[in-house]
Amino acid sequence: MIRYDTVACALDLDAPGKSWGWVELDHSDNDRDYSVIRSPLGVIRGGAGPAALITGGNHGDEYEGQIIARRLFEMLEPADVPGGLILMPALNMPAVLAARRVSPLDQGNMNRSFPGATGAGPTRALAGFVTAHLMPRAGLVIDLHSGGTNADYIDCAYLTLTGDAQTDRRNRTLAETFGLPWTVVVPPGNTGGDLDSAAHAAGCAMFSCELGGGGRVSRASLEAGWQGVLRLLAAQGVIGAEVARRLGAGTAPPTRFADLGAGSGHVTVMRQALAEPLVALGDRVAEGQPLAILRDLFDLDLPPQELAAPVAGVILVARRNALVRPGDHLFTVGPELDAAAVERMPG
Ligand SMILES: [Zn+2]
Repeated sequence: MIRYDTVACALDLDAPGKSWGWVELDHSDNDRDYSVIRSPLGVIRGGAGPAALITGGNHGDEYEGQIIARRLFEMLEPADVPGGLILMPALNMPAVLAARRVSPLDQGNMNRSFPGATGAGPTRALAGFVTAHLMPRAGLVIDLHSGGTNADYIDCAYLTLTGDAQTDRRNRTLAETFGLPWTVVVPPGNTGGDLDSAAHAAGCAMFSCELGGGGRVSRASLEAGWQGVLRLLAAQGVIGAEVARRLGAGTAPPTRFADLGAGSGHVTVMRQALAEPLVALGDRVAEGQPLAILRDLFDLDLPPQELAAPVAGVILVARRNALVRPGDHLFTVGPELDAAAVERMPG
Protein backbone atom coordinates (compact mmCIF):
# COMPACT_ATOMS: atom_id res chain seq x y z
CA MET A 1 0.00 0.00 0.00
CA ILE A 2 1.38 3.41 -0.96
CA ARG A 3 0.03 6.54 0.74
CA TYR A 4 0.08 10.30 0.69
CA ASP A 5 -1.88 12.07 3.41
CA THR A 6 -5.54 10.91 3.04
CA VAL A 7 -4.85 9.08 -0.26
CA ALA A 8 -3.92 5.40 -0.53
CA CYS A 9 -3.38 2.91 -3.35
CA ALA A 10 -2.96 -0.87 -3.11
CA LEU A 11 -1.90 -1.32 -6.76
CA ASP A 12 1.72 -2.39 -7.35
CA LEU A 13 2.85 0.34 -9.78
CA ASP A 14 6.04 -1.52 -10.70
CA ALA A 15 4.57 -4.96 -11.43
CA PRO A 16 5.04 -6.23 -14.99
CA GLY A 17 1.97 -6.82 -17.17
CA LYS A 18 -1.34 -5.00 -17.27
CA SER A 19 -3.14 -4.20 -14.06
CA TRP A 20 -5.36 -1.61 -12.51
CA GLY A 21 -6.62 -0.57 -9.14
CA TRP A 22 -7.92 2.46 -7.31
CA VAL A 23 -6.50 5.59 -5.83
CA GLU A 24 -8.63 5.92 -2.70
CA LEU A 25 -9.44 9.25 -1.12
CA ASP A 26 -10.59 9.13 2.48
CA HIS A 27 -12.80 12.14 3.11
CA SER A 28 -15.15 12.41 6.05
CA ASP A 29 -18.08 14.81 5.89
CA ASN A 30 -21.86 14.53 6.31
CA ASP A 31 -22.26 12.57 3.06
CA ARG A 32 -19.13 10.45 3.16
CA ASP A 33 -18.39 9.51 6.74
CA TYR A 34 -18.70 5.81 5.90
CA SER A 35 -17.37 5.62 2.34
CA VAL A 36 -14.36 6.21 0.15
CA ILE A 37 -13.90 8.06 -3.17
CA ARG A 38 -12.15 5.84 -5.68
CA SER A 39 -10.44 6.87 -8.90
CA PRO A 40 -9.08 4.22 -11.29
CA LEU A 41 -5.38 3.91 -12.01
CA GLY A 42 -4.07 1.68 -14.82
CA VAL A 43 -0.52 0.43 -15.37
CA ILE A 44 0.80 -1.31 -18.48
CA ARG A 45 4.40 -2.39 -18.09
CA GLY A 46 6.15 -4.49 -20.73
CA GLY A 47 9.77 -3.92 -19.70
CA ALA A 48 12.37 -1.48 -18.44
CA GLY A 49 12.09 1.03 -21.31
CA PRO A 50 10.88 4.66 -21.13
CA ALA A 51 7.76 5.31 -19.06
CA ALA A 52 4.97 7.87 -19.34
CA LEU A 53 2.15 9.15 -17.16
CA ILE A 54 -1.07 10.27 -18.86
CA THR A 55 -3.72 12.17 -16.91
CA GLY A 56 -7.26 13.36 -17.68
CA GLY A 57 -9.92 14.89 -15.46
CA ASN A 58 -7.51 17.39 -13.88
CA HIS A 59 -10.57 19.61 -14.22
CA GLY A 60 -13.73 17.52 -13.80
CA ASP A 61 -15.76 18.92 -16.71
CA GLU A 62 -13.13 18.26 -19.41
CA TYR A 63 -13.78 14.97 -21.15
CA GLU A 64 -11.54 14.26 -24.14
CA GLY A 65 -8.55 13.44 -21.91
CA GLN A 66 -10.63 11.21 -19.66
CA ILE A 67 -11.74 9.20 -22.69
CA ILE A 68 -8.27 9.01 -24.26
CA ALA A 69 -6.64 7.70 -21.05
CA ARG A 70 -9.32 5.02 -20.64
CA ARG A 71 -9.13 4.05 -24.32
CA LEU A 72 -5.34 3.58 -24.05
CA PHE A 73 -5.83 1.11 -21.19
CA GLU A 74 -8.36 -0.84 -23.29
CA MET A 75 -6.29 -0.96 -26.47
CA LEU A 76 -2.70 -1.43 -25.31
CA GLU A 77 -1.14 -4.66 -24.06
CA PRO A 78 2.22 -5.14 -22.30
CA ALA A 79 3.75 -6.39 -25.58
CA ASP A 80 3.00 -2.92 -27.05
CA VAL A 81 4.79 -1.08 -24.22
CA PRO A 82 8.53 -1.80 -23.93
CA GLY A 83 8.65 0.45 -20.87
CA GLY A 84 5.69 1.57 -18.79
CA LEU A 85 2.48 3.52 -19.11
CA ILE A 86 0.60 4.85 -16.08
CA LEU A 87 -2.95 6.08 -16.76
CA MET A 88 -5.03 8.17 -14.36
CA PRO A 89 -8.13 9.22 -16.32
CA ALA A 90 -9.97 10.97 -13.45
CA LEU A 91 -7.29 12.91 -11.62
CA ASN A 92 -9.74 14.93 -9.53
CA MET A 93 -12.53 12.34 -9.18
CA PRO A 94 -14.69 14.44 -6.81
CA ALA A 95 -14.80 17.15 -9.52
CA VAL A 96 -15.41 14.54 -12.25
CA LEU A 97 -18.36 13.07 -10.32
CA ALA A 98 -19.85 16.55 -9.92
CA ALA A 99 -19.17 17.44 -13.61
CA ARG A 100 -17.52 20.63 -12.34
CA ARG A 101 -14.14 22.24 -12.85
CA VAL A 102 -13.03 22.09 -9.20
CA SER A 103 -13.67 19.73 -6.31
CA PRO A 104 -16.96 20.23 -4.46
CA LEU A 105 -15.25 18.89 -1.32
CA ASP A 106 -12.86 21.82 -0.80
CA GLN A 107 -13.30 24.00 -3.93
CA GLY A 108 -9.81 22.82 -4.83
CA ASN A 109 -8.58 23.53 -8.36
CA MET A 110 -6.31 20.57 -9.07
CA ASN A 111 -4.17 22.61 -11.45
CA ARG A 112 -3.41 25.11 -8.66
CA SER A 113 -2.76 22.41 -6.04
CA PHE A 114 0.57 20.94 -7.13
CA PRO A 115 2.99 19.75 -5.87
CA GLY A 116 0.45 18.92 -3.16
CA ALA A 117 0.56 19.15 0.61
CA THR A 118 -0.45 17.17 3.67
CA GLY A 119 -3.16 18.43 6.00
CA ALA A 120 -4.40 20.82 3.31
CA GLY A 121 -7.56 19.14 2.03
CA PRO A 122 -8.47 16.43 -0.47
CA THR A 123 -7.38 18.19 -3.67
CA ARG A 124 -3.84 18.88 -2.42
CA ALA A 125 -3.69 15.34 -1.06
CA LEU A 126 -4.51 13.90 -4.52
CA ALA A 127 -1.96 16.23 -6.15
CA GLY A 128 0.63 15.14 -3.60
CA PHE A 129 -0.03 11.49 -4.38
CA VAL A 130 0.63 12.15 -8.08
CA THR A 131 3.82 14.09 -7.34
CA ALA A 132 5.15 11.61 -4.79
CA HIS A 133 4.29 8.30 -6.45
CA LEU A 134 3.45 8.73 -10.17
CA MET A 135 5.80 11.43 -11.50
CA PRO A 136 8.98 9.72 -10.21
CA ARG A 137 8.00 6.68 -12.30
CA ALA A 138 7.59 8.66 -15.56
CA GLY A 139 10.05 10.30 -17.94
CA LEU A 140 7.19 11.89 -19.89
CA VAL A 141 3.97 13.38 -18.48
CA ILE A 142 0.97 14.21 -20.69
CA ASP A 143 -1.89 16.17 -19.05
CA LEU A 144 -4.95 16.48 -21.29
CA HIS A 145 -7.31 19.44 -20.81
CA SER A 146 -10.31 20.94 -22.62
CA GLY A 147 -12.08 24.28 -22.31
CA GLY A 148 -14.49 23.08 -19.61
CA THR A 149 -18.13 24.08 -19.27
CA ASN A 150 -17.73 27.81 -19.97
CA ALA A 151 -15.25 28.03 -22.81
CA ASP A 152 -14.29 26.48 -26.13
CA TYR A 153 -10.60 26.33 -27.08
CA ILE A 154 -9.10 25.78 -30.46
CA ASP A 155 -7.26 22.45 -30.31
CA CYS A 156 -3.88 23.64 -29.09
CA ALA A 157 -0.69 22.57 -27.38
CA TYR A 158 0.65 24.78 -24.59
CA LEU A 159 4.23 25.94 -25.02
CA THR A 160 5.23 27.63 -21.76
CA LEU A 161 8.51 29.47 -22.24
CA THR A 162 11.02 28.78 -19.48
CA GLY A 163 13.94 31.05 -20.40
CA ASP A 164 16.13 28.01 -20.89
CA ALA A 165 16.69 27.62 -24.63
CA GLN A 166 17.30 23.87 -24.45
CA THR A 167 14.12 23.18 -22.45
CA ASP A 168 12.06 25.46 -24.70
CA ARG A 169 13.35 23.66 -27.79
CA ARG A 170 12.54 20.26 -26.28
CA ASN A 171 9.02 21.38 -25.36
CA ARG A 172 8.51 22.83 -28.82
CA THR A 173 9.53 19.49 -30.36
CA LEU A 174 6.96 17.73 -28.15
CA ALA A 175 4.26 20.13 -29.41
CA GLU A 176 5.28 19.64 -33.05
CA THR A 177 5.26 15.86 -32.61
CA PHE A 178 1.80 15.94 -31.02
CA GLY A 179 0.64 17.86 -34.10
CA LEU A 180 -2.44 19.82 -33.00
CA PRO A 181 -3.54 22.59 -35.42
CA TRP A 182 -2.24 25.29 -33.03
CA THR A 183 0.45 25.73 -30.39
CA VAL A 184 -0.11 28.68 -28.05
CA VAL A 185 2.98 30.32 -26.58
CA VAL A 186 2.65 31.53 -23.00
CA PRO A 187 5.09 33.21 -20.63
CA PRO A 188 6.26 31.55 -17.43
CA GLY A 189 5.23 32.72 -14.02
CA ASN A 190 1.44 32.80 -13.97
CA THR A 191 0.95 29.07 -13.62
CA GLY A 192 1.78 28.45 -9.97
CA GLY A 193 0.57 25.13 -8.62
CA ASP A 194 -0.04 23.49 -11.97
CA LEU A 195 0.79 19.92 -12.82
CA ASP A 196 3.23 21.11 -15.50
CA SER A 197 5.47 22.88 -12.96
CA ALA A 198 5.54 19.85 -10.67
CA ALA A 199 6.43 17.58 -13.61
CA HIS A 200 9.23 19.91 -14.70
CA ALA A 201 10.53 20.01 -11.12
CA ALA A 202 10.51 16.20 -11.14
CA GLY A 203 12.69 16.26 -14.25
CA CYS A 204 9.97 14.91 -16.57
CA ALA A 205 9.38 15.95 -20.17
CA MET A 206 5.94 17.60 -19.96
CA PHE A 207 3.19 18.16 -22.49
CA SER A 208 -0.25 19.67 -21.92
CA CYS A 209 -2.95 20.78 -24.32
CA GLU A 210 -6.52 21.98 -24.73
CA LEU A 211 -8.91 19.81 -26.75
CA GLY A 212 -12.23 21.51 -27.49
CA GLY A 213 -14.43 22.36 -24.54
CA GLY A 214 -17.89 23.56 -23.63
CA GLY A 215 -18.43 20.62 -21.29
CA ARG A 216 -19.09 18.41 -24.32
CA VAL A 217 -17.02 15.86 -26.23
CA SER A 218 -15.93 16.98 -29.67
CA ARG A 219 -15.32 14.10 -32.07
CA ALA A 220 -12.68 16.12 -33.96
CA SER A 221 -10.85 17.22 -30.80
CA LEU A 222 -10.95 13.68 -29.41
CA GLU A 223 -9.42 12.32 -32.63
CA ALA A 224 -6.74 15.04 -32.75
CA GLY A 225 -5.83 14.30 -29.12
CA TRP A 226 -5.80 10.55 -29.64
CA GLN A 227 -3.47 10.73 -32.63
CA GLY A 228 -1.23 13.24 -30.84
CA VAL A 229 -0.89 11.06 -27.75
CA LEU A 230 0.02 8.03 -29.89
CA ARG A 231 2.62 10.03 -31.86
CA LEU A 232 4.18 11.45 -28.70
CA LEU A 233 4.32 8.05 -26.97
CA ALA A 234 5.94 6.55 -30.06
CA ALA A 235 8.46 9.40 -30.42
CA GLN A 236 9.53 8.90 -26.79
CA GLY A 237 9.81 5.13 -27.22
CA VAL A 238 6.96 4.33 -24.79
CA ILE A 239 5.15 2.43 -27.55
CA GLY A 240 6.45 1.27 -30.91
CA ALA A 241 5.85 3.32 -34.06
CA GLU A 242 3.99 0.36 -35.59
CA VAL A 243 1.69 0.22 -32.53
CA ALA A 244 0.88 3.93 -32.95
CA ARG A 245 0.06 3.34 -36.63
CA ARG A 246 -2.07 0.28 -35.81
CA LEU A 247 -4.13 2.37 -33.38
CA GLY A 248 -4.71 5.10 -35.97
CA ALA A 249 -1.87 7.61 -35.72
CA GLY A 250 -0.94 9.30 -38.99
CA THR A 251 1.92 11.69 -39.72
CA ALA A 252 1.89 14.85 -37.58
CA PRO A 253 0.28 17.74 -39.45
CA PRO A 254 2.12 21.07 -39.09
CA THR A 255 1.18 23.19 -36.08
CA ARG A 256 0.77 26.98 -36.24
CA PHE A 257 1.93 29.21 -33.38
CA ALA A 258 -0.08 31.93 -31.66
CA ASP A 259 0.75 34.30 -28.80
CA LEU A 260 -1.42 33.71 -25.73
CA GLY A 261 0.86 35.91 -23.63
CA ALA A 262 1.59 39.64 -23.69
CA GLY A 263 0.52 40.08 -27.31
CA SER A 264 -2.96 38.61 -26.81
CA GLY A 265 -6.08 40.31 -25.49
CA HIS A 266 -9.41 39.40 -23.90
CA VAL A 267 -12.75 40.83 -24.97
CA THR A 268 -14.36 41.40 -21.58
CA VAL A 269 -17.98 42.25 -20.86
CA MET A 270 -18.84 44.91 -18.26
CA ARG A 271 -22.64 44.64 -18.35
CA GLN A 272 -25.19 41.99 -17.56
CA ALA A 273 -26.40 41.21 -21.05
CA LEU A 274 -27.05 38.75 -23.86
CA ALA A 275 -24.05 38.40 -26.16
CA GLU A 276 -24.47 37.82 -29.88
CA PRO A 277 -21.18 36.56 -31.33
CA LEU A 278 -20.16 37.93 -34.73
CA VAL A 279 -17.18 35.60 -35.15
CA ALA A 280 -16.32 31.99 -34.36
CA LEU A 281 -13.43 30.09 -32.81
CA GLY A 282 -10.42 30.05 -35.15
CA ASP A 283 -11.51 33.11 -37.17
CA ARG A 284 -8.87 35.68 -38.06
CA VAL A 285 -9.86 39.18 -37.01
CA ALA A 286 -8.49 42.72 -37.45
CA GLU A 287 -7.82 45.10 -34.56
CA GLY A 288 -11.02 47.07 -33.87
CA GLN A 289 -13.23 44.61 -35.73
CA PRO A 290 -16.61 44.15 -33.99
CA LEU A 291 -16.65 40.69 -32.38
CA ALA A 292 -19.94 40.71 -30.47
CA ILE A 293 -23.09 42.70 -29.82
CA LEU A 294 -24.38 43.05 -26.25
CA ARG A 295 -28.05 43.67 -25.57
CA ASP A 296 -29.62 44.59 -22.27
CA LEU A 297 -31.73 41.85 -20.76
CA PHE A 298 -34.63 44.08 -19.68
CA ASP A 299 -34.68 47.36 -21.60
CA LEU A 300 -35.55 47.20 -25.31
CA ASP A 301 -34.81 50.94 -25.67
CA LEU A 302 -31.15 50.67 -24.67
CA PRO A 303 -28.91 50.71 -27.73
CA PRO A 304 -26.86 47.57 -28.34
CA GLN A 305 -23.16 47.75 -27.53
CA GLU A 306 -20.48 46.50 -29.90
CA LEU A 307 -17.33 44.93 -28.51
CA ALA A 308 -14.24 45.18 -30.70
CA ALA A 309 -11.09 43.08 -31.07
CA PRO A 310 -8.33 44.51 -28.84
CA VAL A 311 -5.62 43.18 -31.17
CA ALA A 312 -5.41 41.57 -34.59
CA GLY A 313 -5.12 37.80 -34.53
CA VAL A 314 -6.96 34.51 -34.22
CA ILE A 315 -9.92 33.73 -31.94
CA LEU A 316 -8.20 31.23 -29.62
CA VAL A 317 -10.85 30.95 -26.90
CA ALA A 318 -14.60 31.65 -27.03
CA ARG A 319 -17.23 31.73 -24.27
CA ARG A 320 -19.87 29.05 -24.65
CA ASN A 321 -22.96 30.80 -23.27
CA ALA A 322 -24.70 33.99 -24.36
CA LEU A 323 -25.79 35.15 -20.89
CA VAL A 324 -22.93 37.24 -19.53
CA ARG A 325 -22.15 39.39 -16.50
CA PRO A 326 -19.51 42.01 -15.74
CA GLY A 327 -16.01 40.55 -15.84
CA ASP A 328 -16.82 37.67 -18.20
CA HIS A 329 -14.45 37.19 -21.12
CA LEU A 330 -16.21 36.58 -24.44
CA PHE A 331 -13.14 35.89 -26.57
CA THR A 332 -9.37 35.74 -26.38
CA VAL A 333 -7.56 36.97 -29.48
CA GLY A 334 -3.89 36.19 -30.05
CA PRO A 335 -1.67 37.11 -32.99
CA GLU A 336 -0.24 34.32 -35.09
CA LEU A 337 3.54 33.96 -34.73
CA ASP A 338 5.91 32.68 -37.32
CA ALA A 339 8.28 29.94 -36.24
CA ALA A 340 11.28 32.31 -36.19
CA ALA A 341 9.43 34.71 -33.87
CA VAL A 342 8.77 31.86 -31.41
CA GLU A 343 12.52 31.15 -31.41
CA ARG A 344 13.27 34.76 -30.45
CA MET A 345 10.71 35.10 -27.65
CA PRO A 346 12.24 35.64 -24.21
CA GLY A 347 11.35 33.11 -21.53
ZN1 LIG B 1 -8.38 22.10 -17.58
